[in-house]
Order: sequence, then structure tokens, then C-alpha cells
Amino acid sequence: MKFKSVRFALSAKNAAACPEWELPEIALIGRSNVGKSTLINLLTSKESLAKVSATPGKTQLLNFFVIDEQWALVDLPGYGFAKVAKNQKVDFNEAVGDYLSGRENLMTVFVLIDSRLPPQRIDLDFLHWLSGCSVPFSLIFTKTDKQSTGKTKANIETFLQEMDAFMPDRPGVFTSSTKDREGRMEVLRYIRAKVET
Ligand code: GDP
Repeated sequence: MKFKSVRFALSAKNAAACPEWELPEIALIGRSNVGKSTLINLLTSKESLAKVSATPGKTQLLNFFVIDEQWALVDLPGYGFAKVAKNQKVDFNEAVGDYLSGRENLMTVFVLIDSRLPPQRIDLDFLHWLSGCSVPFSLIFTKTDKQSTGKTKANIETFLQEMDAFMPDRPGVFTSSTKDREGRMEVLRYIRAKVET
């Protein structure tokens, strides 16, 4: 699957600065270092794209890319921990919250999870919040080449079991490895179905 054109459109610092177009949008989000930039390169076959998002000053912005003038890929800033008094809570910028909870042309969100790790509280807390929004989402477990298939499967099952506590209907699950180009076709097929409806 090759795209005819892939172009950076704009970076938005808040919901008001997001484009006014009606293009269907597909968003990606995950903790920093989860492999988001690498996956965006894999999906679009364009190395320059994720570099745009990684430019100093843009990592905290919502970056919009237009694919074949038909849909937009939205690279969202990652989330982290904020220390609030003695507790830690998921901290993602307000623009991301507004975008995910209010964007009408947002078709679906991919939440990237590192397949090597046991369930991380920060991912679960973010997903708990996201499950309260009306937008559909799926998980992409990244970096599967780093361990055996059995270990990946076990980690995914443990993660989904943790999610059962707040979301009994399990989300869609994809796996990816940029080393083996695993997951590209599956994710792109899913995106195509979402943007064509
Ligand atoms: P981001 O911060 O989420 O954008 O993460 P990056 O895309 O920069 O990836 C973080 C690190 O993980 C980099 O060193 C990547 O080369 C590496 N990485 C990302 N995806 C994969 C993968 O599927 N397999 C392997 N082996 N390494 C990966």
C-alpha cells in the first residue's frame, strides 16, 4: 500500500488551532519512547514526517499530516506522569484532552503500548480516561521483535486483563515491529475502512 502524497499540514497548540477541514482523522498517542515516530515512518514510508514532529518546539503540539488529500494522520504529544502532592496522575496536555474528547472528524485513536513491559499504570490510567470519551480506539503493541511471540502474547493478555476492570468490551489489538515491518498492512487496512465510512 503506497500513498501518492503525504504532507505536513500544520501544528496546533490547542483545539482552536486545529484545522477546520472535514478530512477524517486518525490519531496516534503513547508514552515517549514507545516507538510512535518509528511507526509513523513505517505507516507512511516517509522518514521526514516523524522528524517534523520531533523538531524542537513541536513535541508538545498536535501535528497534522495529510495523506493523499483524503485523510489526516494526527501525531499527538505523548503523556507522562505529573507529581501531584504525593500522588502521581496521568498528565497530558489540555489540548490533547480537548482534541480527544471533542473532535468531530476524529475516526479512531491508536494507543501505542510497549509490548515488552508488564502493564504500566500510566498507560492504564490514560486508557481508563479515554474509555470515557466517545471516540473508538485500538491498541498497538510495539517492538514485538524484541522478544518471543509467546512473551508478547502473554504480555498482551495480562494488559487486557488489567483493562477488563474498567472496560469489559476489549479493544482491538494490533502488534507492530518496525524491524520486521510487522503490522503495517493490518493497521493501514483498518485505517482505510475507518476513513472510507
Ligand atoms: P517515540 O518517542 O515514541 O517517537 O519513539 P521512537 O520512534 O523514537 O522509538 C524509540 C526507540 O525505539 C528508538 O530507538 C527506535 O529505533 C526503537 N524502536 C521503535 N520501534 C521499534 C521496533 O518495532 N523494534 C525495535 N527493535 N526497536 C524499535
